Amino acid sequence: MMDYDHVLELDRTDPLAASRAAFDLPEGVIYLDGNSLGALPRHVPGRVAEVIGQQWGRDLIQSWNRHDWISMPARVGDRIARLIGAESGEVVAADSTSVNLMKLLSAALALRPERRTILSDNGNFPNDLYIAQGVAGLLDKEHRLRITDPDQVAEAIDEDVAVIMLTEVDYRSGRRHDMSDLTARAHAAGALVIWDLCHSAGAMDVDLNGSNADMAVGCGYKYLNGGPGAPAFMFVARRLQPVLKPALSGWMGHDQPFAFDLDYRPAAGILRNLAGTPPILGLTALDAALDSFDGVDMTRVRAKSLALGDLFVALARERLACYGLEIITPEAHDVRGSQISLRHPEAYAIIQALIGEGVIGDFRMPDIARFGLVPLYNSFADIWHAIERLEGVMAAGTYRQPRFRERLAVT
Ligand SMILES: *Cc1c(COP(=O)(O)O)cnc(C)c1O
Repeated sequence: MMDYDHVLELDRTDPLAASRAAFDLPEGVIYLDGNSLGALPRHVPGRVAEVIGQQWGRDLIQSWNRHDWISMPARVGDRIARLIGAESGEVVAADSTSVNLMKLLSAALALRPERRTILSDNGNFPNDLYIAQGVAGLLDKEHRLRITDPDQVAEAIDEDVAVIMLTEVDYRSGRRHDMSDLTARAHAAGALVIWDLCHSAGAMDVDLNGSNADMAVGCGYKYLNGGPGAPAFMFVARRLQPVLKPALSGWMGHDQPFAFDLDYRPAAGILRNLAGTPPILGLTALDAALDSFDGVDMTRVRAKSLALGDLFVALARERLACYGLEIITPEAHDVRGSQISLRHPEAYAIIQALIGEGVIGDFRMPDIARFGLVPLYNSFADIWHAIERLEGVMAAGTYRQPRFRERLAVT
């Protein structure tokens, strides 16, 4: 039996415990949804207010130079690079994950013109599959999207695969792909890989260059806490940067944006992948949010994430199994991300009832209750109380109330 004293001891000895104070979490709420929208770092509002009031308000257009707004995509990208095992100059913050994926997938397919297959898996975020379908339609060159089970990707790699497009951590199950292994297999077959790090960046010690990764995209508003709709990021390995030809050939990716040449000429390096004017307010919030990672060792973040998950699993097994809540996240550390997912036919209503008890998780179709574990601000006591309240919801059957079954627009 797991007891509460043990849980409190885990918090007392947690080397990341102090990070929580940097976040403005509402009183009485246990927030286990940082994998959908990261919590608000306390100093973000002040920083954004300053950029609005002083830089935009007083310095106006001069701010592009005076406050170096123009280099924000690169500067913020460099800060993200450290968290994902990339070098300075290999990452930019820009656009949304969807747009960055469209850009990279189009450019990657052009590097393998004789091949026709885009390979992905059915655990991928459907959005990414939609983007691939759109790109294939736009190129109109008979590309086909092949979708396998997550554990069959390796066998499906053949000589026709141009690009493998995978999300490292499955948004539903929390299952994690082996980035190094799949990248090596792809390269051996002559294919390129684009990794989606939406559920990895900020939650674990991703090692893009150590895995010999080609390209990656990821989200600014999940574990990086950049705020709703924050700019996303993209990574292109240095060795590929000169050969990657941008599909969205906009002026911010031009070699000399302010020369106003009539012809497009891509910038050197990662910057060529920029398209339009950077969203300075969004980048400011993301930049400020990244301060909470300063000096933080990502292997510690990973270790705590796994420990939070282990505690969740142990308590769920002890206290929730009798209610038919099945743990679907793999338990082994090397194949797990930073969330725990439970399956139940009434998962939607259970999550709604649990939110009524002050514990925020979320629901994913068709029957998944999902709990994100964020090492910078979740405590071990959070997990204890979340399980206790979930047990209460199940024992009392509160989730059976009709009000918890009404589907809202955003689940
Ligand atoms: C959250 C998420 C996205 C979101 O893309 P947007 O362009 O920000 O809407 C894309 N892919 C994955 C795997 C995600 O988890």
